[in-house]
Amino acid sequence: MLKKLFQSFRSPLRRAPHPRSTPEVLGNNQHSLRRGQISRYAVSVVERLQNAGYQAYVVGGCVRDLLLNFEPKDFDVATSATPEQVRAEFRNARVIGRRFKLVHVHFGREIIEVATFRSHHPQGDEEEDSTQAARNESGRILRDNVYGTLEDDAQRRDFTINALYFDVSNERILDYAHGVHDIRNRLIRLIGDPEQRYQEDPVRMLRAVRFAAKLGFDIEKHSAAPIRRLAPMLREIPSARLFDEVLKLFLSGQAERTFELLLEYDLFAPLFPASAKALEQNPEYAGRLIRQALANTDERIYRGKPVTPAFLFAALLWPALPARVAYLQGRGMPPIPAMQEAAHDVISEQCQRTAVPKRFTIPIREIWDMQERLPRRSGKRADLLLENPRFRAGYDFLLLREEAGEETDGLGDWWTDYQDASDSERRNMIRALNSKDDGAAPRKRRRGGTRRRRGGPRGEGAPSAAE
Ligand code: ATP
Ligand code: MG
Repeated sequence: MLKKLFQSFRSPLRRAPHPRSTPEVLGNNQHSLRRGQISRYAVSVVERLQNAGYQAYVVGGCVRDLLLNFEPKDFDVATSATPEQVRAEFRNARVIGRRFKLVHVHFGREIIEVATFRSHHPQGDEEEDSTQAARNESGRILRDNVYGTLEDDAQRRDFTINALYFDVSNERILDYAHGVHDIRNRLIRLIGDPEQRYQEDPVRMLRAVRFAAKLGFDIEKHSAAPIRRLAPMLREIPSARLFDEVLKLFLSGQAERTFELLLEYDLFAPLFPASAKALEQNPEYAGRLIRQALANTDERIYRGKPVTPAFLFAALLWPALPARVAYLQGRGMPPIPAMQEAAHDVISEQCQRTAVPKRFTIPIREIWDMQERLPRRSGKRADLLLENPRFRAGYDFLLLREEAGEETDGLGDWWTDYQDASDSERRNMIRALNSKDDGAAPRKRRRGGTRRRRGGPRGEGAPSAAE
């Protein structure tokens, strides 16, 4: 009898397609996260929402990062209140986004991002309200504004380690997807069926790589397996979103490691097709230049120095230029116009993948133009170049090319000396050039010894603050 009763309770549960998960609840003696580590603004947003009768938790990257002793980039809040209800609670709040509606609550320069609990996405016959939710034919989610419960919200998050909810009122962590287990085992694991989750949003492949690089985690094998096959799906993602993702990939302090993982998972080519081709054709030079640029970027971020997307893109795309120039010259175009046109073509093709805004494409062109002008130093040219606002970026880029093994006959050292020289020394340097042809052939490259760079030790100069 008793056995029968149990069976009748158990069988419907076993058949249920989406068993509702109950969270593992970790009390504050079971984890290290303390309320005092959370931004006071995030705490006040959560408390305000809770006092108004809503559920609200601190969630996502900040919980993950604090458990791992990383400094969180930002603080995200998840709540049962709709965006409109959230906005009504705060004077300093704005609803943003269309594909995915969020509320930004502003506190001076700090923004707390508040997301309403989302439900899993209705599919097939379940599809009810196309104004709130939409998918395309390959399953990609176009709009994701179906609200749900806390449990639903946990299931639709991307990785288990991103689905931890911290309750600031009692310092408990709610873990719906074994995220704490994966944090302990240092694994990036998608929640649910990996293939379906990548198809819903291919950007999750880039996020997997970004978190693996940032945290030094492995991508769990089932979450890693479909990536190479599905990587071409990135081509369907709106280019403006990919631009934002590329900045997160390369300007978060782990660009070098991220780049290796992007290559390993075939994710670099859909983002930078022309650069990927150059890497194939000339792996040594292209690989060295890109890796050096990324290493310099990481170094600058580590030292708290500014970095600019323009320098980064100038470096990532530079190896793609020669093939294009050769093609145009092969069709009879003279060298200088061929270079100009190649630069234009490479950038506009790239914009189709990762919409690079004009405020960056202009300095990219200027950095490249500088490479043509830096060898021409005779007469007043050198001094005019020094006054050019793009000089520093152009000079850093020249050093980068040399570090990648390009032979410039000591041009970088010449410019390093010139910047440090007195007026009379500068005149002598120009005179020495004038005795040669147009200053196009500078003195011999310094042999041995470490490479000098003006403005700090090796590795500090590039990318420069071209913005
Ligand atoms: P970081 O802020 O350090 O880049 P994060 O994990 O906080 O990392 P956000 O982009 O701020 O990333 O997103 C906040 C949370 O929203 C994530 O932790 C995750 O739970 C969820 N999320 C973000 N993007 C997606 C996505 N594409 N698919 C599913 N869930 C997502
Ligand atoms: Mg975040």
